[in-house]
Amino acid sequence: YFRQHRLPHIWCPGCGNGIVMKAIVEAVEKQKLNRDNTVIVSGIGCSSRASGYMDFDTLHTAHGRAIPFATGIKLANPKLNVIVITGDGDCTAIGGNHFIHGARRNVDLTVVLFNNSIYGMTGGQASPMTPVHKKATTAPYGSVDRPFDACHLAEAAGAAYVARSTAFHVQHLTDMIAGGIARDGFSFIEAVVQCPTAYGRKNKMADPAQMMMWMRDNAVMKAAWDKLPTDKRDEKFPIGVFYQHEFTEYGKAYNEVIEMAQGGKK
Ligand code: SF4
Repeated sequence: YFRQHRLPHIWCPGCGNGIVMKAIVEAVEKQKLNRDNTVIVSGIGCSSRASGYMDFDTLHTAHGRAIPFATGIKLANPKLNVIVITGDGDCTAIGGNHFIHGARRNVDLTVVLFNNSIYGMTGGQASPMTPVHKKATTAPYGSVDRPFDACHLAEAAGAAYVARSTAFHVQHLTDMIAGGIARDGFSFIEAVVQCPTAYGRKNKMADPAQMMMWMRDNAVMKAAWDKLPTDKRDEKFPIGVFYQHEFTEYGKAYNEVIEMAQGGKK
């Protein structure tokens, strides 16, 4: 599933993007998707480079616009399995509008958000998911903006499946993505991922192993998280499936209306 004939990747040593990319491939295999029927669509950013490294039909699109491109692909050919790769800047800043409306429409897409908490490729600027007080080139003394919880946002916007995992919990991450692929509708999986270069260097975690340990120590399985008293949560974050819902998928709803309009169904 990986391209053999392309130039080597440009990810930094110790970057977690490759781990998430591998988890996507494992999930595709686990769900027995036909490679010829599977399309990977990405936006712009470090993580979005993954579409070029995978041996599927791929589309590397414009910044923040992967979801509308993917929506068009799915509506044009509903038989395709469409997986979107996006980063926290790509998905929740410039593409934030498309993200919430993709979820609201419940288009049958699997969106994997690689959350490294910063704009990596474009120079280490703070993204809408940079935690408060964490440093970035645009926040040299620490960010004062409160970050989005992208999972809550996806749920509130109407996604059919919402989950989170990390690059440390590889098997768990694979299962979360496989669950999203299996779900008919808009599936959103946040993958917390280490970025030792842009985020780590600014925030005293330039060693990738240190960032992996941070994920290991701070991610708490959803069920255990629910039982934690709020004052014990600190920097910890829950992982697992947060939400699943059976809404009518957008393409199907659309076809029902067309059938009705043509008099085939009341
Ligand atoms: Fe990975 Fe960060 Fe380097 Fe981008 S800047 S390739 S996210 S380590």
